[in-house]
Amino acid sequence: MYKGKLFILSGPSGSGKDTVLARVLQADENITLSISSITRQMRVGEVEGEKYHFISREEFELLIKEDALLEYNVFVGNYYGTPKKAVMNALENGKDVILEIDVNGADQIRKKLPEAVSIFIMPPSYEELKRRLTGRGTDSEEVIESRLKSALGEMERAKDYNYIVKNDVLEKAVEDVLHIILSYRLKTERQQNLINEVLGKC
Ligand code: 5GP
Repeated sequence: MYKGKLFILSGPSGSGKDTVLARVLQADENITLSISSITRQMRVGEVEGEKYHFISREEFELLIKEDALLEYNVFVGNYYGTPKKAVMNALENGKDVILEIDVNGADQIRKKLPEAVSIFIMPPSYEELKRRLTGRGTDSEEVIESRLKSALGEMERAKDYNYIVKNDVLEKAVEDVLHIILSYRLKTERQQNLINEVLGKC
């Protein structure tokens, strides 16, 4: 049995990475989203276990102590981490897994699992990013400025990723990510069954 492939998806706030990811998961039922454990408050509309497990700081610190996380990071004062067992089990069972994590988490995964494939979702331009972050209409000037600053820092690290997908037209960005995933499924190492099946009947 082949092993599954691990994909990392990152991108700054305003890149539209969450929407791209949701569409990819909708279109490809063979990829599993890793459910991160996090300590921030649940937002309106979020559901426990859908994208995140919401746990206490104490519970999270226990996970760190027990070495139960593949990677973790502190983001705006809260812990975010990828549970090791769920991801490794899915990969061992031949399932492709996608992690939606930040640039620091991606660095940690690259060191531990260098065969992971990383994809960075890039906004089409700085002006567009600014427009998207301002257009939400819910944040103060100060918050927008700080989001823009952190987005710039993240985009500077896009060069560390295997692929960069520009999210200008959503459908195109989704297609690009799906193509990257598909290209790994077409690798020879994943096609042993096909070779055996076809040659076995000769
Ligand atoms: P949010 O609080 O807006 O849902 O997510 C904030 C940031 O945390 C996003 O950049 C998201 O990609 C990142 N993130 C979500 N889960 C994880 C995780 O398990 N590990 C790391 N390192 N970052 C994560």
